[in-house]
Amino acid sequence: MPATAPKPVLLELLRCPEPHHAPLAYDREENALTCSECAKVFRVEDGIPVMLLDGATE
Ligand SMILES: [Zn+2]
Repeated sequence: MPATAPKPVLLELLRCPEPHHAPLAYDREENALTCSECAKVFRVEDGIPVMLLDGATE
């Protein structure tokens, strides 16, 4: 079963919650979003990105 990817329109709107608000890149294999600025990784659960700094891994 492939993971549910976030909708493309959602990916365009998402930005890192850190003050730099950099765009995020979706990694299909990891099913996670990676910040292009600080490289924090945010999980995606059932197509919903978990945009919590607490849940991010660096
Ligand atoms: Zn960031």
